[in-house]
Amino acid sequence: MKPAPFEYATPTTLDEAVALLGTPGARVIAGGQSLLQDLRWRRTSASLLVDIARIEELRGVHDDGDRVRIGARVRHVDLERGAVGGPLGRLLAATARWIAHPPVRSRGTMVGSLCVAHPSSEWCGLAAGLDATVELVSVRRRREVTVADFLRDSFTPAAGPDELATALLVPVLPEGTRVGVVESRRTHASYAHVAAVAALLPDGGSRLGLAGAAPTGVRAHAAEAALARGDDPGAAAAQLDADPREHPHAPIPYTRHVAGVLVRRALQEAS
Ligand SMILES: Cc1cc2nc3c(=O)[nH]c(=O)nc-3n(C[C@H](O)[C@H](O)[C@H](O)COP(=O)(O)OP(=O)(O)OC[C@H]3O[C@@H](n4cnc5c(N)ncnc54)[C@H](O)[C@@H]3O)c2cc1C
Repeated sequence: MKPAPFEYATPTTLDEAVALLGTPGARVIAGGQSLLQDLRWRRTSASLLVDIARIEELRGVHDDGDRVRIGARVRHVDLERGAVGGPLGRLLAATARWIAHPPVRSRGTMVGSLCVAHPSSEWCGLAAGLDATVELVSVRRRREVTVADFLRDSFTPAAGPDELATALLVPVLPEGTRVGVVESRRTHASYAHVAAVAALLPDGGSRLGLAGAAPTGVRAHAAEAALARGDDPGAAAAQLDADPREHPHAPIPYTRHVAGVLVRRALQEAS
């Protein structure tokens, strides 16, 4: 199917872009890897697409020592190729490799993935696990929202129609952190059934994120606490952190089981 007609704008500044987003029915287009398909299938509509590909302020990665700011134009492939250094960069690169296949990774963006809020999005699981923050700008205000608040529900990000997500702010992982990421999926190019992301910190703490195990990406707090106590983090993840919905190919008890297994495997990979 072809999409319904829409206007198309290519602003070069953030101010121009947010002004355009005040138009009723306007939508941001980043890599188009989710939006174009939805428009073609008429699952969604737009009167105006505001393409952010020429906005300089949204490019690149900046590390201020505490947080890494990943701009809205940063694609999956940029992170896969090592745009970020240190243990966080290794975790981002390893996670990016699980996403779709190279053509999708070369256009799709990390911030765009957060704005889709697919329950199985690897970036949503990682960002929730690491307590990242989304930066949003509109003509009304500039604000930061924690990923836990931003991912309200499946496909329901906490962004207004006139807001542009300018960056994801991810806490830096200290040197000496060991990382792992694993997932299960039905076919190579399909979304994950469940994905688990693990960071073992040098002070003995951990950060664990899950995708596909709940309506949104979540931080696996119970598994982290179990690990600190010397209990089985997999059992805690399956029973307490996972909150799966029925899936056509996976009954709820199976998804819980897989979440537990993958948390153990991600930790094993990190050890
Ligand atoms: C075959 C295929 C397989 C895929 N497999 C996976 C997978 O395994 N894992 C995975 O995570 N993803 C997967 N994806 C999705 C892919 O990762 C997309 O890149 C991702 O969903 C983000 O899309 P995008 O950056 O191209 O954003 P777009 O498609 O341009 O936009 C998506 C939505 O987010 C909004 N949006 C985008 N950027 C912003 C912004 N900065 N501010 C405000 N709103 C914004 C748009 O308005 C739109 O509603 C797959 C896609 C395809 C086509």
